[in-house]
Amino acid sequence: MYNIIGKVLFFFIVASLLLSGIALFASRRSLTGNIYLAGFFANVLDFFYLPLRQLFLKFSDIRILDKWMASLKNLAYKSNFAKTKKRILLAPHCMRSLDCPAYSTQTGIQCKSCGKCVFTQLKKDAEKYGYKLFIVTGSSFVKNILKMEAADGVLMIACDYEINKVMRALKGKNVVSYGIPMERDGCFDTEVDYQKVLNVFETFKD
Ligand code: SF4
Repeated sequence: MYNIIGKVLFFFIVASLLLSGIALFASRRSLTGNIYLAGFFANVLDFFYLPLRQLFLKFSDIRILDKWMASLKNLAYKSNFAKTKKRILLAPHCMRSLDCPAYSTQTGIQCKSCGKCVFTQLKKDAEKYGYKLFIVTGSSFVKNILKMEAADGVLMIACDYEINKVMRALKGKNVVSYGIPMERDGCFDTEVDYQKVLNVFETFKD
């Protein structure tokens, strides 16, 4: 009996290692090209996320894992995101000017379009392409916003960690997510490649 349990356990461990290794390879490849079964591999990486995270923390850099996973999920969700009808855009408050005069509510920073930072233009462009912009101070705001806004598409400007985190949190809900990773992340003075944002707006325009 113990012999059979041991064999099953061994088989499970080998299969898990193999599957997560292939999924990791697929996510790495997603940075440069299309991947067959991207959604399946994204699910595998979500399932093994915690042990993989420990592995990357110990031997590499956790940001690499999130970067690969966010890229793979963008491939997996792209066609469904294109079908969404009511979209919101989430952007981090750390892209604001340090002199920002706006105040915060439960749906994030209420931008006054004062012209001191990128949000004046982003708000205009987002509206032009049919997105309602929310400037958030953390991913915990997403739940509040989605309670108030019946959106079926969430576009995020964020670091890879936050993109991956929100994508995992929205899994199984009736919302499709897509992410635009930032060029420079951190807690303040962060930056996104604005041309990339415009390209994504264009890609998904109706
Ligand atoms: S444009 Fe908006 S977010 Fe930027 S500094 Fe002015 S009020 Fe703040």
